[in-house]
Amino acid sequence: MKFLLELLRDLRPTAAPAVILVAFSLALMAGFTLPDSLTGLRTLAPWTLLPACVAMAVWFNRGRTLIAALSVLAAYAAYSPMLYAAPSGLGARAVLLAIAILVPLNIGLAAACAERGVLRFQNYRWLLLVAAEVLLVSWLAGVRPEAISGVAWGPLLDHWLFRSPPMPVAGRLMFAAALAATLIRAWPKPQAPMPMPLDAGNAGALIAFFMACEWATSPGAFDAFMSAAGAILLVSLLQESHRLAFRDELTGLPGRRALEERLRGLGEKFAIAMIDVDHFKRFNDTHGHNIGDQVLKLVAARLAEIRSGTAYRYGGEEFAVIFPDCTAAEATPHLEEIRASIEHYHMAIRRPGRPRDPREGTALRDTQPPGETLSVTVSIGVAEPDERRTTPGPVLKASDEALYRAKQAGRNRVSA
Ligand code: GH3
Ligand code: MG
Ligand code: MG
Repeated sequence: MKFLLELLRDLRPTAAPAVILVAFSLALMAGFTLPDSLTGLRTLAPWTLLPACVAMAVWFNRGRTLIAALSVLAAYAAYSPMLYAAPSGLGARAVLLAIAILVPLNIGLAAACAERGVLRFQNYRWLLLVAAEVLLVSWLAGVRPEAISGVAWGPLLDHWLFRSPPMPVAGRLMFAAALAATLIRAWPKPQAPMPMPLDAGNAGALIAFFMACEWATSPGAFDAFMSAAGAILLVSLLQESHRLAFRDELTGLPGRRALEERLRGLGEKFAIAMIDVDHFKRFNDTHGHNIGDQVLKLVAARLAEIRSGTAYRYGGEEFAVIFPDCTAAEATPHLEEIRASIEHYHMAIRRPGRPRDPREGTALRDTQPPGETLSVTVSIGVAEPDERRTTPGPVLKASDEALYRAKQAGRNRVSA
């Protein structure tokens, strides 16, 4: 049960794409159609959502999302007029074949490459690739049975690998490869235990595009799933902007801004703890800033384990934990446990030769002589509301004063 809850929590960024896909699929399966006054929305939705995603991806400087949004938009622009004009014509089938292969190819390739942002030189290659694809598809749109340029389009498009509809087998294979690449990219890693919203969004948009191609002869379904792809990308961009504003990049904990919001929403009973790493300046000076950063991640990971409270990075090497339904006395054992676990944790220094696999790293740490490992301690101050301080602001200040007392009393302790 606990495992399931943790899994669900870690999969949170995939919830929006999943909900959008399921909602659109259910609506189509139930035969839902837009009222007459809104039928224009069917084509208007992809035409507004997808360009909005392109613009936002450029604005946020997110190359992978830009590639995904541009590819899906170009595919929609190419295929949707043909779908309305002559869906079973040779041109429409050739275009469907091309987009079914090229869109997953682009999204898969982008997922396999490192994110370098939109405006870097390397990305002009991407733009060239997309431009070449657009030219290819517009040429394909004009193919006739009497085969210009020596290609017999009729037999080629009837080959089992390229036959459509539904989505040609070649497109399905490309989709499977691209989906694998996007899922590997989105898969939780030790340094990022939750999938990033944009990675989850790209995988979701790819699935929506796949479904659009599978139902490509039904204008309603094609438009709906292309809109779903746009909606998924847009939501992932919004989630990304929320993450940028409220999450601390180094530790992955919610940041100062999130803490301020949380303080405003607290009820009458709560406790606030402030945590500060002891002699951290000295630690940084001795071991360097990078190892200092690793220590901050370690402390953050421990604080995030507290179930009855939420940990925030307050700033620098200071953290806050909000216990929404505890007194200071009830919070203290949890804090004491975390303090002891940080004190007893011995961290191996990540030297250049250290294995990248964390399991090997743990094995190495266990066999290392004690002198080769580092450890830190933290001081903690905790406070709760009383008759003099009834609102979160003064309680936070009181926990800071308690922290000061913990430092004065010799550090590595919890003070109330
Ligand atoms: P005390 O036990 O009294 O808290 O001593 P201290 O050295 O920890 O005290 P102080 O708060 O003055 O030191 C904070 C130091 O934390 C200063 C800076 O070098 C370091 N620091 C702040 N933010 C970061 C960060 O993001 N990464 C790293 N590596 N160091 C940081
Ligand atoms: Mg400090
Ligand atoms: Mg300190």
